[in-house]
Amino acid sequence: MEISGKKVTLLSFHYVAVYFINDREGGNIMNTDELYDEIIAAGLAEVKRIAARIVQSSELAEQNFGELEFLLRRLMLDLAAKMLKPVLERLNGGYKGNTIRCRCGRTARFKGRREAWLDTIMGPLRLEKAYYYCSGCGRGFSPLEEMMRLEAGRTVALRRLISLAGVEDAFERGARLLEEMAGIKVSDNTVERVAEQAGQEVMAREEREDDSLLGEVWPKEPEAPSKAEESAQRMYVTVDGTTAPMRGYWREFKVGAIYPEAGEQKRYYASLDRGSDFMLEMRRQAIRKGLGGVKEVIALADGQPWIWKEFEINFPMAVQVLDFWHLMEHVWALARTLWGEDSRQAKRWAESVRGQLKDKGGGAVLKRIKRLKRRRKKKTEREEIDSLIKYLTDNLSRVDYPGYIERGYDIGSGPVEAACKTVIGRRLKGSGMRWTEVGAEKIARLRAIRLSGLWDNFWGFTVNAA
Ligand SMILES: [Zn+2]
Repeated sequence: MEISGKKVTLLSFHYVAVYFINDREGGNIMNTDELYDEIIAAGLAEVKRIAARIVQSSELAEQNFGELEFLLRRLMLDLAAKMLKPVLERLNGGYKGNTIRCRCGRTARFKGRREAWLDTIMGPLRLEKAYYYCSGCGRGFSPLEEMMRLEAGRTVALRRLISLAGVEDAFERGARLLEEMAGIKVSDNTVERVAEQAGQEVMAREEREDDSLLGEVWPKEPEAPSKAEESAQRMYVTVDGTTAPMRGYWREFKVGAIYPEAGEQKRYYASLDRGSDFMLEMRRQAIRKGLGGVKEVIALADGQPWIWKEFEINFPMAVQVLDFWHLMEHVWALARTLWGEDSRQAKRWAESVRGQLKDKGGGAVLKRIKRLKRRRKKKTEREEIDSLIKYLTDNLSRVDYPGYIERGYDIGSGPVEAACKTVIGRRLKGSGMRWTEVGAEKIARLRAIRLSGLWDNFWGFTVNAA
């Protein structure tokens, strides 16, 4: 902090005092005795007010205890807010001297102090912000915003709760949940805006990883691999697609799940991005999940050609495995065409093919189906047979199921199908939901973080830690 003696005299005595104390204590909250007394004083005044309110409402104890409980929660939050005020005042509005460095690298000048609202999980609080202006880039700001990670006056704790409501449920239901569960009153639009802003931040951080794939991305503690992940010999990378309703049309989300063998926490990723961008991000996330240390990588997916092409580029070391259940869906479709829905022959045939796939592999099944074609003359039947022949031929190097089973691989992409449902389906396909692509993308990215167990990492702190 740099303040010349002359400039200091221009400031009120209050701020001069704070300045000197701040300086002595290295900028931290100081003089704890004084602070303690102030908090007590603020709290006592509020406690008296609350006591009067409780006396006033005491008949509720008999008539409607539930209402009294909620009233008390409100009052306790007010009390906490009042007691916090002296602490906030010590932040001195974010004042850092007469001039500070702007983000653009030039110098910003102190322009004075302004009253501002701080929105917290305890309710709104009035506070003073020190404002600076940079004539170089025309930006006006208060260092307090960065210090406290404020966005539109909302604290990070409040944004975390609002985003939670928006990422777990429809915005309007989320707003109602927040009000009842946390005593926080915000509009549906605010839930949408704040949650999407958090999603935007997820995207920005994922993008910043460009510079260094293993760099520290999350604010405080970079994710450390768990014991199980560290000792894992194998990693599965699986990709699938699922559609979600936009305004007037549907679009396919690409969904990925990454999980080391025996890894309890899967990493999910979902995006509307092009396949190449999607898979590049999958690779970055796999690297963060320990890709460099595993002996085997197994790429599991359905037959979509773009997926294999991108696997080849981003996971060239991976053993590619065609998802067994996608293949069986094709087999079932053919069985029903040849022998009729629900027929016993269809069932018997499909089951025999399933056994053969596991015992002899896809090559043997391909031969069997080619033989079958010779006996079938109907056009629809031949077309359905050709479609399966093509599917198997295109994926012939990915259907060695006996070999995969012998090595103990998972051959079904169950986890990524579950991910399609949990990351996208449950949140983006609710009744009446219509998304903009931009909004859907942000919520999907935020939801992937949430479901990947990275929520604390993203916000930079743990709730109820102390
Ligand atoms: Zn600037």
